[in-house]
Amino acid sequence: MLGSEMVESSTVIGHQVTLNRLSVAISKGQNSHAYLITGPESVGKNSVARYLASALNCENVSEIPCGQCAQCNRISRSVHADCETISVDLDGYLHGDGNKRTVITIEQIRRIIRECYLKPYEGKYRVYIIQQCDRMSEEASNALLKTLEEPPEQVVLILLSSVPEKILPTLVSRAQVISLKKVNWLELEKGLIQKFNLDKKIAEELSKTCDGKPGIAVKMLEDEKYRKWRSDALDEAETLAESGPYQRFLYGGSFSKRYTKDREDSIAVLTLWQEWWRDVLISSYGINNSIINQSRIDKISYYANQYGSTNSAKNVRILTQAIAKLQKNFNPSLTIEQLMLGMPILAKK
Ligand SMILES: [Zn+2]
Repeated sequence: MLGSEMVESSTVIGHQVTLNRLSVAISKGQNSHAYLITGPESVGKNSVARYLASALNCENVSEIPCGQCAQCNRISRSVHADCETISVDLDGYLHGDGNKRTVITIEQIRRIIRECYLKPYEGKYRVYIIQQCDRMSEEASNALLKTLEEPPEQVVLILLSSVPEKILPTLVSRAQVISLKKVNWLELEKGLIQKFNLDKKIAEELSKTCDGKPGIAVKMLEDEKYRKWRSDALDEAETLAESGPYQRFLYGGSFSKRYTKDREDSIAVLTLWQEWWRDVLISSYGINNSIINQSRIDKISYYANQYGSTNSAKNVRILTQAIAKLQKNFNPSLTIEQLMLGMPILAKK
């Protein structure tokens, strides 16, 4: 996480209306002390947060953030002393014990609270970006809430979450909510061409594949491991579409084990399967142009013929329900078993 942020450019793909609104407000001195940026995984919450941090600290008077001045430059390179990102300390690095954590701890929040009463070192504002803020422990949330009741003048907190319903409501009510939606294809395509200098054809296919989430497009371009992970998960979706009840039952057992080892990853795999089935459903209506996984269109049309729209729709629905249950911490092995047994099976010829 820390490594990948170093190369991230400050250019945001999409969300232009939101960005303009924020930059106008900030240039008039009408910024909030707390923002909550919500929206699906990879939709651009981090990029918008950095944009905000730059706008708040930019040296330029009009057209902020300028993206050129020393402040903007240092924020985009993640070396600004007053702009810090806080996230779940997955490997216990910050705590020095190497133990995995699943929450943002009270110690992490206490440190921010202590620091935020100090004057900024180099910019106008101290900006703290709290990723996955729904993962704050109750103690941590309450401590942060106290600070937000009387926030120090030169501090701005930016909370990020894709599951805002899990955040303490009193905390939400203290923040200005910025809700990001998926970016439409054309805007995404334009953004990808601008940012990566891509060929129009490649940008077009990529913007369809990432389903309105620019972060996925960036990973598809820059992260070979991600490409492999994605391709494996889609292979699995095809294998499952082909398999019978007994195979699925066995598969469910091994998927449950995988879930115990890596919950986030498993939910991401299910989300890809859901997208793949939505493609099959769309294809069953003959609208192949809107398919996300364009590179797999042959298999998708094949299964659209085999399953038909009713069963494809049922698969989308069952996967959507399973993902929602897992996110709400329902019993995982039961949920996965119900999923595997509930998905319609291909009638044998
Ligand atoms: Zn600037």
